[in-house]
Amino acid sequence: MTARITHWIDGKSWTGTAERTGDVFNPATGAKSGEVDLASTAVMDEAVAVAKRAGAEWAATSITKRTSIVFAFRELLNARKEELAAIITAEHGKVLSDALGEVSRGQEVVEFACGIPHLLKGGYSESVSSGVDVYSIRQPVGVVGIISPFNFPAMVPMWFFPIAIAAGNSVIIKPSEKDPSAQNFIAQLWKEAGLPDGVFNVVHGDKEAVDRILTHPDIKAVSFVGSTPIAKYIYETGTAHGKRVQALGGAKNHMLVLPDADLDLVADAAVNAGFGSAGERCMAISVLVAVEPVADETIAKIVERMATLNTGDGTRNTDMGPLVSAVHRDKVKGYIDAGVAEGAKIVVDGRDITPDADGNGFFVGPTLFDNVTPDMSIYQEEIFGPVLSVVRVKTYEEGLKLINDHMYGNGTAIFTNDGGAARRFQNEVEVGMVGVNVPIPVPMAYYSFGGWKNSLFGDTHAHGTEGVHFFTRGKVVTSRWLDPSHGGINLGFPTNG
Ligand code: NAD
Repeated sequence: MTARITHWIDGKSWTGTAERTGDVFNPATGAKSGEVDLASTAVMDEAVAVAKRAGAEWAATSITKRTSIVFAFRELLNARKEELAAIITAEHGKVLSDALGEVSRGQEVVEFACGIPHLLKGGYSESVSSGVDVYSIRQPVGVVGIISPFNFPAMVPMWFFPIAIAAGNSVIIKPSEKDPSAQNFIAQLWKEAGLPDGVFNVVHGDKEAVDRILTHPDIKAVSFVGSTPIAKYIYETGTAHGKRVQALGGAKNHMLVLPDADLDLVADAAVNAGFGSAGERCMAISVLVAVEPVADETIAKIVERMATLNTGDGTRNTDMGPLVSAVHRDKVKGYIDAGVAEGAKIVVDGRDITPDADGNGFFVGPTLFDNVTPDMSIYQEEIFGPVLSVVRVKTYEEGLKLINDHMYGNGTAIFTNDGGAARRFQNEVEVGMVGVNVPIPVPMAYYSFGGWKNSLFGDTHAHGTEGVHFFTRGKVVTSRWLDPSHGGINLGFPTNG
């Protein structure tokens, strides 16, 4: 029997009948596990009306009360994270420990949002002119739309909604239709935490639902994470309709290995960051740039470690799970075929592995290419699978140029024992998030997450101070309480003195 997954609007499951539905699979077995309702424009309109009404009351609720509800949500999430991780593994395929890690990183943003009383504090200047004081306040923007990708069904929405809600907004989450259930579980936790109905809504769907978010006049801000072509479309359409938009796109993250690096550390990092979550992470390392003469030795160490990886069902004791869908598996295999055809040397071939799983799951094993060159499609395009490419260069400058010339600029890392070289790299590299001997430099919740170039459209990164600013509007008040002796008419431009 397959489950029906429907919208969560106004604090309860939607009871209507969907005109269209989408299939949901367990990627480890290939079996269909559910059907998700795909919202029409009318359903989205219903959710926006609810969010607008509930949001007005929520914005007027005291910061102390709002904070206590966010804190209660944090406690429930922490207590029930194993259940959420199991839901993620069942629909996404990533191994359970990785799903749990995803929830923990999302929880850090909830914890950051518990500090909202401090984060919303404004400035105050007394007596800027005779009897005049100036102060700044930050107010919620209203109804916020959050459109998320399949690869972090719990964490990516959590980059946004804890701050949006704590700041007094109401939200509509449009999860990926490939793994929709995590957000329904989270919706129930919010209700249990005491969040008023209608502040947190989940509307499932595809392009039709997304397009209504982008055009609805009552949605004031849109946070999007997904592939670059869609991110660009979201940014252009949303801003054309007067919304503020942050749209995070795809990635091709390079790891630059200098000759003085600790090659055991490098090999561990390359394997973890290349094949964790089957490479379906926007911060995965997909290119290792080896500054000669270290390529041969680095590759040997990586191959040694790859031989120990167990690929299979994420609920078993495995290291790497399947890809999210059959279509995506075929796309990743197509890239491996293209790499071979274009002349890269395939060192480890994951196309025909036998996974530790029952049924017909969507598996591709860890794959390693050597002698990859910048003209190849496996170098230029985001594969989003367990495929690591090694590019050999002669100098630091050549490696840096490769990274800076690439269309994506999400994450990168340098591996070296030379502090001066690392410092130069952090200054010269044109990428938003930089690791020094850290392969996946995902910023903590109190810093902001986001890339450069085609990895982000808009000016504001996710969470941290930038997240607080994105979900609030600044207002500055200039006030004068008249001294009884003050008065008179003056048509001149206001000046201070
Ligand atoms: P996707 O772009 O296919 O889908 C993302 C969202 O957009 C989903 O909710 C989907 O329903 C919706 N969507 C898809 N096609 C649409 C269309 N034509 N019109 C309107 N909406 C549409 O991305 P995905 O495959 O779910 O996720 C993987 C991608 O996300 C990768 O490119 C990855 O790099 C990227 N990603 C980026 C970050 C980051 O922080 N930069 C983080 C996670 C994932």
